[in-house]
Amino acid sequence: MKLSLNIQPLHTWIDVKNEPLLISGPCSAETEEQLLNTARLLANTGKVSILRAGIWKPRTRPGEFEGIGSIGLEWLKKAKEETGLPIATEVATASHVEECLKAGVDVLWVGARSTVNPFTVQEIADALKGVDIPVMVKNPVNPDLSLWIGALERINNAGITKIAAIHRGFTSFEKTSYRNVPMWELAIQLKTICPELPIINDPSHICGNRELIPYVAQKALDLDMQGLMIESHINPLVAWTDAKQQLTPEALSKIISELNLRVAAS
Ligand code: PEP
Ligand code: MN
Repeated sequence: MKLSLNIQPLHTWIDVKNEPLLISGPCSAETEEQLLNTARLLANTGKVSILRAGIWKPRTRPGEFEGIGSIGLEWLKKAKEETGLPIATEVATASHVEECLKAGVDVLWVGARSTVNPFTVQEIADALKGVDIPVMVKNPVNPDLSLWIGALERINNAGITKIAAIHRGFTSFEKTSYRNVPMWELAIQLKTICPELPIINDPSHICGNRELIPYVAQKALDLDMQGLMIESHINPLVAWTDAKQQLTPEALSKIISELNLRVAAS
């Protein structure tokens, strides 16, 4: 099988400040102070190229924090103004896309719980028609390569050419040391059928805990993945979501310095 997407190389649409491409920031924007303080420290490391923060959080179970909502866009804009970092957030509906475009968000991503649903992805793709914004597509929660490919195709068919895939691991019934098993072979297969597609690894959601992150990040680089998305928080222990897997900006910086770089030119 061959997947042909009409895409532009990653380095033409992201200013990579430091190799590997690093996208970081909190799982969720919680307060203006939390987001700005985290962003400042991340910018000071000199290693981060894009600031991420979720403001609409698709939770598996009801009753958990579902994101701060649109006010988070204002905080992201402030963080960008102050640090100069481009900003990224997750979109799951057409109205999320519209709000992000109005607010000047630089990069959008489709989350793992959205990639599983072709209607949701198509709704997002339709809202993107005629827009020239980078979009990253996380793998679906289940290990179905066709769903991942289908979502990438829907976004590409809408005219988006600045596309990357994010490998965040897959749900498994078996208990493992991972939160989401990496099943590296699926990412490798995607790369094989579409060599021009940049793949960014998300060790945070694969590991589900801070301790494993360096090993998964290193493995991703050894497999020539083009970048890493790693969650960070000014005070991970009190994070409102994904507290076990977030790193302080200092810990993140140390891990990145210790990685053995083998990033492929793209
Ligand atoms: C996230 O990036 O915080 C997130 C919700 O990720 P995923 O869609 O991979 O579960
Ligand atoms: Mn998260």
